[in-house]
Amino acid sequence: MHTIGVDIGGTNIEVGLVDQKHKVSARAKAATPSAGPKEFVKLISKLVDEVGGEPAALGVGVPGVISDNVLVKAPNLPGWSEKTDFRGMLAKKLGIPVGLGNDVDVGLLGEWVAGAAKGGDFVLGVWMGTGVGGSLILDGQPYHGVSGGAGEFGHVIIHHDGALCTCGRRGCVEGYGGRRAMERTIEHRIDAGFETSIDEIRQKKHKGHFTSGVWQEALESKDPLATAMFRDAVTAVGVGVASAINLLDLDRVVIGGGFAEKLGTDLTSSIEEVAQPLMLRPSPNLTIVPAKLGDDSGVVGAANLAKSVVVR
Ligand SMILES: [Zn+2]
Repeated sequence: MHTIGVDIGGTNIEVGLVDQKHKVSARAKAATPSAGPKEFVKLISKLVDEVGGEPAALGVGVPGVISDNVLVKAPNLPGWSEKTDFRGMLAKKLGIPVGLGNDVDVGLLGEWVAGAAKGGDFVLGVWMGTGVGGSLILDGQPYHGVSGGAGEFGHVIIHHDGALCTCGRRGCVEGYGGRRAMERTIEHRIDAGFETSIDEIRQKKHKGHFTSGVWQEALESKDPLATAMFRDAVTAVGVGVASAINLLDLDRVVIGGGFAEKLGTDLTSSIEEVAQPLMLRPSPNLTIVPAKLGDDSGVVGAANLAKSVVVR
């Protein structure tokens, strides 16, 4: 049985036809539309036609909050202001069963069935991207909480009244470790006269934002401001991870997203170094590892979500 996995990101929509062994056999990709859900349904239907292969079902990961299969909000997608039965809309258009999941949950699911989380029963996924996403697998099952709100690792508070987070609250992990928050902080510091080469690196790479690649190059050139700020980001994530382990007694932490893709085990071992002395009684089996599937984790996870819809 083949199923389709759709990964909706802020920049691109990736669609893949995935086989039983979690291999992506055909792909299609397009820029994320700036209009609302109807445009997404049209575009996804076109991309599904492009990959072909008569899929049995489709799964989709959306950067938003999902409760009872309904998309409650997707603040990072323009034109998605209201509660949407996106799953129903897609199923009607495509004529196949559709599964809907949060993008980070779907990413961790991909890593769980075919990547770095495989074999873990108590797993925290931390996706360090524009924000800091989180997802949980507890007792061998994806865990979403009472109303779909569990796993918000990025908004775990690590400093009461600390740095302003993109959610409007203060002291969250994301306020230190999310690229959008880091960008705002570094811009303030550049304006305040701190010496750094990171803005030159950004311009040289023709990037509008401080991407993971821009940070990586600034870190490699030992830029002092970038190094200090990245240290703060790693500390925030490490403190959050230690707290999560103290609360949940995990056996695996998977770090994904752009930074993990660029920095791999350099990043995970720095996070582990911060977390280690803060953990009360970590399992001897605990490992903190980078995601393995890169961009494919979302597509593979979404395709797996599709499978569960068919089985049901
Ligand atoms: Zn927050």
